[in-house]
Amino acid sequence: MGERFHTHAALDAACHLSTYARKPALFVRGDGMRLYDDDGREYLDFLAGIGVVNLGHAHPVVAEAVAAQMHRLVHVSNLYYVEHRAELAERLSALAGGGWKAFFCNSGTEAVEGAIKLVRKWGKARRGPSCFGIVAAERSFHGRTFGALSATGQASKQDAFAPLLPGFTHVALNDIDALEAAVTAETCAVLLEPVQGEGGVYPCNPDYLAAARRICDERDVLLIFDEVQCGLFRTGTAFAWQGYGVRPDVMTLAKALANGLPAGALLASGTAAEAFAPGDHGSTFGGGPVIAAAALATLGALESEALGKNAARIGEVLQASLRAFGTRTGRIVEVRGRGLMVGAELAESNAQQIAAALLEHGIVAGAVGERILRFLPPLVAGEAEVSRLTDTLDAVLGAAS
Ligand SMILES: *Cc1c(COP(=O)(O)O)cnc(C)c1O
Repeated sequence: MGERFHTHAALDAACHLSTYARKPALFVRGDGMRLYDDDGREYLDFLAGIGVVNLGHAHPVVAEAVAAQMHRLVHVSNLYYVEHRAELAERLSALAGGGWKAFFCNSGTEAVEGAIKLVRKWGKARRGPSCFGIVAAERSFHGRTFGALSATGQASKQDAFAPLLPGFTHVALNDIDALEAAVTAETCAVLLEPVQGEGGVYPCNPDYLAAARRICDERDVLLIFDEVQCGLFRTGTAFAWQGYGVRPDVMTLAKALANGLPAGALLASGTAAEAFAPGDHGSTFGGGPVIAAAALATLGALESEALGKNAARIGEVLQASLRAFGTRTGRIVEVRGRGLMVGAELAESNAQQIAAALLEHGIVAGAVGERILRFLPPLVAGEAEVSRLTDTLDAVLGAAS
């Protein structure tokens, strides 16, 4: 670490609110799966800005689309028509099988806020003013603003900020009986991540998602899938629910939507798509022409480079390599995930230490709590990069004993 790094880190700590304990790396450049720090040192990125740069860093097609639109028109608000926005909505609907309508915002938490407002309005119109309950999962993560935080099933992120929004109940993931019992006449929606991300990479069981769909249909309740992290080809299909064959009524997107620029989307189909009227919801920036151009370029490249297929294939390779490593060393006790959304449960409570050691060895990876390493590489990852990860894990976990 050079002097420039230490000066920068001191300035950073002195002038930011204390919301992040940043890791010791000052990244200045990226290219595909590679990142470079201020000393010119190369890193392999197995986190992709928390599942955001699915195309890899500095993708030229996105850069060019953004630059061209920046020179043309940046912002006029949602009060007027602009280029790219409707094309983006149409493209997302087609990717999701058709019949969807979109609302664009700037982040995942905003997409979830929009979903909460939409399903509450739908529920009240359907069954009266007390029909605003939302059933979500324990250990889920839906965002940091009050509605999305209330939906989140993690007391550690909520307790300091109570009271939260009323109407949320949380059930154990993959417990069908618990879901049956939690959905009442006052429930307007069930909200699930098909693959939980921030909670530690826990996929829903296929029969659980199918049961959630059945329960929602039987009781006239909307099914919302939060695809902010698992969507956009990360698990192999455009949306994770397509891999399960269970279509929701409402879904939220963000993270990878514009390959690193802030973008979120709320999509609804069926009667849910008719719930909002002009004035009900809005966003000054959402769906602006620069972001929409970036998102269209991102979706185009994800498809033309067949990165869903690659995510499915390399995801298998990554999971198998981590499992083999676990069997050989006893240091990893469980590997979970779908596609390139992978969690490795460690034998010891040293995930933060291991992630720090990986960074020292030139690998960027995530840690959830003390037990879980999380890998969300760009979808361009290949077998050579997976080998370098497992070689580095060998060096690092060997040294940690
Ligand atoms: C990251 C995430 C969010 C919140 O997204 P932000 O853009 O950070 O607001 C919501 N839901 C899920 C599933 C996420 O992974």
